[in-house]
Amino acid sequence: MKIIMLGAPGAGKGTQAKLISEKYGIPHISTGDIFRANIKNDTELGKKAKVYMDKGELVPDELTCELVVDRIAQDDCKKGFILDGFPRTIPQADALKEALQQRGEAMDFAIDIDVPDDFIINRMGGRRACPNCGATYHIVNIPPKKEGLCDVCGSPLVLRDDDQPETVKKRLDVYHAQTEPLIDYYKKEGILRKVDGTQEMEQVFAAITSVLGE
Ligand code: ADP
Ligand code: AMP
Repeated sequence: MKIIMLGAPGAGKGTQAKLISEKYGIPHISTGDIFRANIKNDTELGKKAKVYMDKGELVPDELTCELVVDRIAQDDCKKGFILDGFPRTIPQADALKEALQQRGEAMDFAIDIDVPDDFIINRMGGRRACPNCGATYHIVNIPPKKEGLCDVCGSPLVLRDDDQPETVKKRLDVYHAQTEPLIDYYKKEGILRKVDGTQEMEQVFAAITSVLGE
């Protein structure tokens, strides 16, 4: 099963992708996580990506598409995969389609987690991330068991640099201008499924599994 998670930044794509990955046994591929790991390891890609991420802008397609095309060609993606945060532009969607077409394959579902902007501002302000393992929490909605510490690895949680209020606003503008058109793109492809992302995490997940099947 090959799934794309669509939705604004902070809509809950990563939270749901993790649950889908566990239930269906397919890898969760987050371009944001890949860029953050590269920044942490101070790679050339990380240095380039950071300039854009810090401003709330998109990393250029040239740096992003090849990365994903290579990743989905790996062995663990044979049964399927979940893309979280990719594609974010029409050229990225075209590059993905072309790469799969060359293998005689296509995406199965594009799930749009629909959340209005005013919810997003609250969610991103309360998001706390683990800089060590990438797990994500919300100080009110989905708190860690011990305040300020990651449930998985015990590291202190942080507010992501790009979750500062000014950057969140910019990221939402970028989403509406460059990523939202993908909703129509995948509607035309016949694989778009919309779920109400304002519900609690468990209800959103139930809506998604009813789309994907047991
Ligand atoms: P995205 O990957 O789309 O940027 P996340 O999955 O990181 O979004 O979720 C953004 C924030 O909202 C996180 O702090 C997360 O814990 C919280 N969150 C995710 N899903 C829900 C939900 N259904 N209800 C309330 N808060 C949520
Ligand atoms: P995310 O973790 O998905 O919220 O992504 C964080 C940041 O990484 C985004 O604001 C972008 O700067 C960058 N990024 C992640 N995925 C992509 C992508 N597919 N295309 C361009 N930039 C991306």
